[in-house]
Amino acid sequence: GSSGSRQEHSTWKIIVVGDMSTGKTSIIERYCDGHFMEYYKPSTGIDLKKKIINYENKTIFLNIWDTAGTEKYQSLIQLYYRGAIGLFIVYDITNLNSLHNLEFWMKNIDDFAPSNVVRILIGNKCDLESNRKVSTEEGQLVAQHFGIPFFEVSSKNNLNVDDSFMKMVSMINEME
Ligand code: GDP
Ligand code: MG
Repeated sequence: GSSGSRQEHSTWKIIVVGDMSTGKTSIIERYCDGHFMEYYKPSTGIDLKKKIINYENKTIFLNIWDTAGTEKYQSLIQLYYRGAIGLFIVYDITNLNSLHNLEFWMKNIDDFAPSNVVRILIGNKCDLESNRKVSTEEGQLVAQHFGIPFFEVSSKNNLNVDDSFMKMVSMINEME
């Protein structure tokens, strides 16, 4: 950069979509702040969390946007998608409806997200095995159908959350 440093910098906008209550905010909080809370105060608008990581000698500024209850507002959704380089699509393994609504979200992404956006499917709440309504195989089939990577995660038990973000970072890095 202009400072004379030879270190590369990138700023990436990452977004998280999916039905309400699937755990989008929890996943972001887990990744950015390293904690989990049973109840988040519902907020409105769009929240932004920042995380700085080092990857292959690069400093990467991740700007991770959270819909914060704007799932219903199409005009905000369009703003939300603008400039995104990566996106997670989240369903809840204890909620079959959230799986079925992936069709809606994929259509939404095709309509509004940048066409080359990196997509990863996440089945959240895999700690709730006894309440499971969506098998791992079903999740894998959906991911295969859309041709995107898939992770089952638990933001509560901190399972696979870092791995899914690392996969996202490596895929975006390869694209750049
Ligand atoms: P959002 O509406 O998609 O942002 O979902 P939230 O992050 O607000 O989560 C909705 C509810 O699911 C909250 O009560 C969370 O505590 C809970 N939750 C989120 N992730 C998990 C998880 O991995 N396991 C369990 N057991 N509960 C979760
Ligand atoms: Mg939320």
